Amino acid sequence: MEERTIFHRIRDKEIPADILFEDDEVLAFRDIHPKAQTHLLFIPKHFVASIADITPETVHIPGMLILKAQEFAREKGISGYRLTFHVGKEGGQEVMYLHLHFLSDQKIAS
Ligand code: 5GP
Repeated sequence: MEERTIFHRIRDKEIPADILFEDDEVLAFRDIHPKAQTHLLFIPKHFVASIADITPETVHIPGMLILKAQEFAREKGISGYRLTFHVGKEGGQEVMYLHLHFLSDQKIAS
């Protein structure tokens, strides 16, 4: 059985998070320790632990996260941002559930 992480629990609404986007495939919520004015985490609903585990069969998943982040930014009036995947413990990945960091010095337009 796969090990459940804190992001499994956020995905399954077992613990709260400040969710700003959700559809059938992706969930995006604010990072609890933001490192920029706007700092979100985009996760796929289908569990993958890390970019290190991506295969030709699952390569669409990181692409999908990027696409949702791009759509989110456009919709919220954010014109500049940084997208980061931390890969593996030595790469700074603390939570072993694939997530795309979305950081911007711009605020989300309300
Ligand atoms: P990593 O270092 O694994 O790439 O990033 C994990 C991120 O998840 C960190 O930036 C950390 O602040 C964030 N994080 C850890 N636990 C929680 C939590 O319970 N809720 C939220 N919203 N973010 C979390």
